[in-house]
Amino acid sequence: MSHQQTARTGEVYPFSGGEFVLYKTDRLERLYIELTNRCNFSCRMCFRNNFSGAFGTMPDRVIDALLEQIAVLPRLKSALVGGIGEPLMHSRFREVITALKRRGAIVDVQTNGVLLDDDLIDFLLQQDVDRIITSYECAAVGHVQATGLKRTIARIAELRQKRRGGWSRANHPRITLEWILTADTLDRLESEAREMVALGVNEFILSNLLPMEESMAADSLIMSQSTGRADRVAWQNQGDILEPFIDALRYRAKVQRPEFHLRTERWCSFIERNAMVIRHDGEVTPCYRLLHDSREFYQGRWRDVLAHSFGNIADGSALEIWNSRDYLRFRHQVRNKLYPSCPDCELRDGCDYIQDSSADCYANSPSCGDCLWDRRILICP
Ligand code: SF4
Ligand code: SF4
Ligand code: SF4
Repeated sequence: MSHQQTARTGEVYPFSGGEFVLYKTDRLERLYIELTNRCNFSCRMCFRNNFSGAFGTMPDRVIDALLEQIAVLPRLKSALVGGIGEPLMHSRFREVITALKRRGAIVDVQTNGVLLDDDLIDFLLQQDVDRIITSYECAAVGHVQATGLKRTIARIAELRQKRRGGWSRANHPRITLEWILTADTLDRLESEAREMVALGVNEFILSNLLPMEESMAADSLIMSQSTGRADRVAWQNQGDILEPFIDALRYRAKVQRPEFHLRTERWCSFIERNAMVIRHDGEVTPCYRLLHDSREFYQGRWRDVLAHSFGNIADGSALEIWNSRDYLRFRHQVRNKLYPSCPDCELRDGCDYIQDSSADCYANSPSCGDCLWDRRILICP
């Protein structure tokens, strides 16, 4: 399907006594591919702890459909293979990476690193993947194998340097650490960061701890009355928290840092980057937040998050799903911020909508009103 063909057709929606048209587009540019939501770790901070559906691994029927879609998507620019689960456990992982690279996509692999032996690292280098993203937390709620991960990072750095034969592309693939910030580990950030850069890490993606249990809330740095953080003056400014960390890294690694409290601006990286998330069973969701039935603890209360699918790639093409009436409208609403702001709404304490993510007072369904990703409080690669 050419760009011209898709641009000519659109969907008409009623709006404010009139109507508006959203044109179909082939601008689906990024895929997030969840090969499995199973994992060989069981970290306390993991979103998987609050998933309520069945765990699964992408079956052959869906993998075949995925490979077909990768081959034909006209504007595919990049993909992340990973998500909330360990992709290296999938028997067809290499096939997916090879197909993406054959298409010339920028490829990120997100892994806990424990299965990254020399053979697999060599494969990733041969395929010329662009980022190896692994999570690291020195906190008690984080990953349990910090020493093993440091060895793995050092080995990736060593093998990539050998393979590149010098410094010309020595930092390719980039080694990226996702790091969940907690109150418990703030004082170790600087020393850990220096060590990680010395091992070969090129980039840090810092994010906040979304409590999986109520007892974790005190360790989260997200500002809210219920955690008492709002009163801690030293933490009112994110620069204060992260300054030693940023200083330790200056000019030697890229850092993406989160917000710690609500800001007016909202920006959903999934929607803005024209991304689609494909779940292990082939269901298409707009983002990680709406990928699985789950629940979130924020501002002292639990909220159910309901998975929302716009279709399944085993039943229809990714582009057809992308251009379906509901998905077009959803992206329009999020991109143009046509949804309420629940975390700072004065009606929040009495509002039934925020029991779950199914709807809101603007008649949106699903609702993004209570999302912490679009506030950049939580950050994904
Ligand atoms: S390694 Fe990642 S996906 Fe696996 S349990 Fe830990 S946080 Fe979850
Ligand atoms: S859905 Fe409820 S909490 Fe959210 S903005 Fe509307 S009234 Fe406020
Ligand atoms: S705003 Fe939040 S819930 Fe809505 S699509 Fe983006 S990440 Fe998902």
